[in-house]
Amino acid sequence: MPKVPQLQQPAIAISGSQQLFPVRRIYCVGRNYAEHVREMGNDPQRDLPFFFSKPADAVVGSGRRLPFPPRTSQLHHEVELVVALHGRGANLAGADAGAMIFGHAVGIDLTRRDLQAEAKKAGRPWDMAKGFDHSAPIGPLKLGAPPAAGAISLTVDGEVRQQGDLRDMIWSVAEIIAALSSYVELAPGDLIFTGTPAGVGPIERGQTVRGMIAGTEPIEITFEE
Ligand code: MN
Repeated sequence: MPKVPQLQQPAIAISGSQQLFPVRRIYCVGRNYAEHVREMGNDPQRDLPFFFSKPADAVVGSGRRLPFPPRTSQLHHEVELVVALHGRGANLAGADAGAMIFGHAVGIDLTRRDLQAEAKKAGRPWDMAKGFDHSAPIGPLKLGAPPAAGAISLTVDGEVRQQGDLRDMIWSVAEIIAALSSYVELAPGDLIFTGTPAGVGPIERGQTVRGMIAGTEPIEITFEE
């Protein structure tokens, strides 16, 4: 038999620690801020948030230089609060959600918007639009549950592109955990991207993207020329 491959566990940094947080699955929420729902041409009164996922090895830490993703001429940034879970459970009530949370961080849900638009039009899956290599940059985890309110923003080469507040989430973090756990059992190592505020837009080759949440370490990545 040929040599069996040895795989490395995808993991993200923990603020103030040498230890890494192992990543099991990455779930994402779509349409969780009304202004962003509207900028994408949808109606926040009618369209409830929903879930999609990215592969665990799409995570990349802060300070990285990344190759510009292939097969797109419309790479978009979406700054998001990310929660990391250390609990396990299915069919959870919102009141049980707090005990599931290990920490939180700032993430960027990188999106090949042109591929997503094609997929939407054809009724096809979003995997190639959302789940490509390096599509989940995440800053260091801060321990504990995230604040219910606070500034969330993103700059490209220092220019502010997205500016919102966590209080404007349609589903709270507790509601997201409860809803997601009705579809799948959640387990230690799961990450959840909780949706993006308005202002999503393009990233060009050579640009530096920085995502920020008040009180949390930022995520910063630079794309190669
Ligand atoms: Mn998103």
